[in-house]
Amino acid sequence: MKHSDLLNIAKTYGNPVYVYDSEKIVTQFDRLTNAFKGVQKLKLNYAAKALSNITILRLMNSLGSGLDTVSIQEVKLGLLAGFSPEDIIFTPNGVSLEEIEEAAALGVRINIDNLSVLEQFGSKHPDIPVCIRINPHVMAGGNSNISVGHIDSKFGISIHQIPHLLRIVELTKMNINGIHMHTGSDILDIDVFLYASEILFETAKNFKGLDFIDFGSGFKVPYREGDIETNIEELGKKLTTRFNAFCKEYGRELTLAFEPGKFLVSEAGVFLARVNVVKQTTSTVFASVDSGFNHFIRPMLYGASHHIVNISNPHGRERYYSVVGYICETDTFGNNRRINEISEGDILCFKNAGAYCFTMASNYNSRYRPAEVLWHKGKAVLIRERETFDDLIKNQVDVKDLFVPAREKVSVK
Ligand SMILES: *Cc1c(COP(=O)(O)O)cnc(C)c1O
Repeated sequence: MKHSDLLNIAKTYGNPVYVYDSEKIVTQFDRLTNAFKGVQKLKLNYAAKALSNITILRLMNSLGSGLDTVSIQEVKLGLLAGFSPEDIIFTPNGVSLEEIEEAAALGVRINIDNLSVLEQFGSKHPDIPVCIRINPHVMAGGNSNISVGHIDSKFGISIHQIPHLLRIVELTKMNINGIHMHTGSDILDIDVFLYASEILFETAKNFKGLDFIDFGSGFKVPYREGDIETNIEELGKKLTTRFNAFCKEYGRELTLAFEPGKFLVSEAGVFLARVNVVKQTTSTVFASVDSGFNHFIRPMLYGASHHIVNISNPHGRERYYSVVGYICETDTFGNNRRINEISEGDILCFKNAGAYCFTMASNYNSRYRPAEVLWHKGKAVLIRERETFDDLIKNQVDVKDLFVPAREKVSVK
């Protein structure tokens, strides 16, 4: 996407706006597929929560991707987007038995991450095969908010509970068809990931009826030039060798599954916002944009550092800025950023805005959530309209006769 294309999109659809490049998504999908071409059966299940626009889900479906879902609503979105139930896996954490049963009734694959629900589900539905989420207690990297495989994590069934798990499976006669782990975002060290995989293989040997082993996700993507990223190709080589050896030992060709979210869509997305005010203070120059953490919370929530480019003046001299939002509390996109000189009215482009950006947007400060546009084959396609005032009040119950406005009250002496 050229700067001029982006500026045109902002002009046509208004700002702030999210823009996604379909070609980049396809490139990432192919790259991951190629890295594991030595595996006979590979299944990528796109993690819907990263970016769940229905048109994006349709794009994933057209690539042959499956769908990883974490709520019954994501399951329903996936079905609506045309995924067949067997291509959807439901991998929730801490949801009710009823929600899992609802998903099972829709025919999607079930992944259970605690012994309590496993025992209940297995007792009631021994005929429905389930996958189990194992917590290998390995720190794969990232900060503690996004790293989910460590000892204190709420996710998965601890490997130390395997004896209890096996007892439940034996007593309920349920069928375990898959083993899963997801150690969280930002795999920096492939050897640590491979070490966790060994724990998964060890666990897998306990089950005779497996169809797949799911290694989750957490691939780190670059946020700017020179950033370290997960070496997918090296991981592909090493894990393929190990996986194929395991299948031989196991006696059957299993499916190797992944659930990439960020890897597929992060770099494909940008967020465009307009500078409302340039404010010189005693300590810095603030550039305030027509957005905030209501639309783009990653910098405030995770301390994520998203690269910012002034696409209205890409060749201007560089200066230091603090780029901030319009929310009425501290709302910083980036401090001390070197950006080409900013004038009021310029459009700033925030990179890596494909994953966990729109899906985390809210109406805080009673603002509208932005529009979303897909850049596809050289054309802009609107895939979500900007909200309107009607959307803000749609579900509110305006109980008009509960209170009398002060000005209408008769004062009593
Ligand atoms: C969020 C999530 C993913 C996707 O993680 P990324 O880091 O975005 O690739 C995969 N699997 C599960 C179970 C998840 O909850």
